Amino acid sequence: MALLVADLKWAEEGDPVARIARHLKIGVGAVLAFEVVKKSLDARHRPPSWRVVLRLEVADEAGVLRRRIPSVRLWSPRDEGRYGREDGLVRPPARSGSGRPIVVGMGPAGMFAALYLAEAGLHPLVLERGAPVDTRVASVNAWWRGKAPLDAEDNLVIGEGGAGTFSDGKVYTRRRDGQLGYIFRRLVEFGADPELLQDSLAHLGTDKIRAILPPFRERLRALGAEVRFHARVVDLKVEQGRCTGVVLDDGTEESASAVVVAAGHSARDTVKMLIEAGAAAEPRGIAVGARIEHPQALIDRGRYRTEDRGDLPPATYRLTHHPATGPRGHTFCMCPGGMVVPASNHPGRVVVNGMSFAARRAYWANSAVIVDVPVSAYGATDPMAGFRWQDAIEVRAFELGGGTWAAPAQRVPDFLAGRRSDDLPRTSFPMGIAAVDLHQLFPPFLGQALAEVIRVFDRQIPGFAGPDALLLAPETRTTSPVVFTRTSGQESTTLRGLFPAGEGAGYAGGIISSALDGLRAAISIAG
Ligand SMILES: Cc1cc2nc3c(=O)[nH]c(=O)nc-3n(C[C@H](O)[C@H](O)[C@H](O)COP(=O)(O)OP(=O)(O)OC[C@H]3O[C@@H](n4cnc5c(N)ncnc54)[C@H](O)[C@@H]3O)c2cc1C
Repeated sequence: MALLVADLKWAEEGDPVARIARHLKIGVGAVLAFEVVKKSLDARHRPPSWRVVLRLEVADEAGVLRRRIPSVRLWSPRDEGRYGREDGLVRPPARSGSGRPIVVGMGPAGMFAALYLAEAGLHPLVLERGAPVDTRVASVNAWWRGKAPLDAEDNLVIGEGGAGTFSDGKVYTRRRDGQLGYIFRRLVEFGADPELLQDSLAHLGTDKIRAILPPFRERLRALGAEVRFHARVVDLKVEQGRCTGVVLDDGTEESASAVVVAAGHSARDTVKMLIEAGAAAEPRGIAVGARIEHPQALIDRGRYRTEDRGDLPPATYRLTHHPATGPRGHTFCMCPGGMVVPASNHPGRVVVNGMSFAARRAYWANSAVIVDVPVSAYGATDPMAGFRWQDAIEVRAFELGGGTWAAPAQRVPDFLAGRRSDDLPRTSFPMGIAAVDLHQLFPPFLGQALAEVIRVFDRQIPGFAGPDALLLAPETRTTSPVVFTRTSGQESTTLRGLFPAGEGAGYAGGIISSALDGLRAAISIAG
């Protein structure tokens, strides 16, 4: 049992226990434990003061309640959710005889859908076409080092943890309550730094994400989920407009009470399969461009206005250019102290992205610089049109790079001047770079728009477009070019029982938004 103390005036300095004891009119020794569950600035008075809500344990709870202090009451189970201490989600009992749900994909969306379904006692079957994270890291490293060819089923975007495993793991959101609270608290339970619960600009780092995944998987299994790797779903079972299960690549079939497909947007074959099976989808505009890489010190100077950043973390940035008319662009997925990585899962196609380790200690900073691409640019209106448009750029990048996985690259001043770079600076990209005029890679509208937004950003960070800035391309896979039409319960509008979720469904763009979308699909299924 515990008490809740609402609206208590709080000071950063002084003894908090003495303050609480005074408020409750008890001795200091009777305050056993307290936790600030909410802190806000009360600006109604001058000067403003901090107010807190406390969860409190005292020696004589009944005695305190008998005093009838207006701000004090018993802590209730609903407070767990309200103050984000627990997830606050009500889990229904298992529905016997209704069959188990299936979750396709173990990226953030699939994993959180599976976790909720497992916690609800529904024993989901979780199918992941790729490998567990432990062997996945070795495969990615072997490819980067040229010791193995790209494995289409085991790479940077396919496998346990999905596309987020080899990322910077930015999880930038302010709120930590409700469904977001559920996600963040589970991440901490599986090993993430508890600071994640307070820091709205938190990042995990690829090393930490890799460590979180095995305990996550073990929890799923402990809750009665069946987790299968190297299990690629190649078709849906459909009966009278309802998705009743899946077909696997080895020919086996699995029946399901509901199917969550959280396949990401790199698994083009799976997206195509869903559309062919009858799930309605529409093309969607995306944002495409390149990775820009600078020495981190240049970014630190630009942001902190000092040569020595001291104890400050490596500086980050988020730049946007959204004029009323003309090209619109922004930076995306900035990785301070990180590296640019090859992120293709298709032989013969170059795609770049960014990742960093928890310490963010690398010499470089990188970010996507991307411009809006409307559906009209795809040249067709079917749901797969955007993928074909992206794929064509990625294939051209592979060819322009010399067919060796080298990424086409150009110094930014050369890109702005429209000439190939004579020499290229050092880079973090592990598979080599090739001097290419990127205007040859992009459609003219895209190259021109990219040049325009880079010029604008150069006015915000000195040196952004200077000789130390390098572009590596293409950054094609920032968002999904398709959106599956869904009901308010996240079910496909045309295939009952099918729940397209996460980034590949067109409803998320990032680790946390994908996790949230998967979680909501599971809540809808669990009822
Ligand atoms: C290099 C990189 C860095 C990134 N950095 C960040 C970052 O710092 N912060 C951030 O918020 N986001 C980042 N992102 C984006 C983020 O990773 C994605 O938005 C997120 O992973 C999408 O989650 P998802 O679960 O929807 O799909 P995915 O993560 O793509 O997962 C889909 C899973 O489904 C599996 N699958 C596909 N088809 C099938 C099938 N037919 N059968 C069985 N399994 C299948 C795949 O193997 C994969 O594991 C980054 C992405 C990349 C590639």
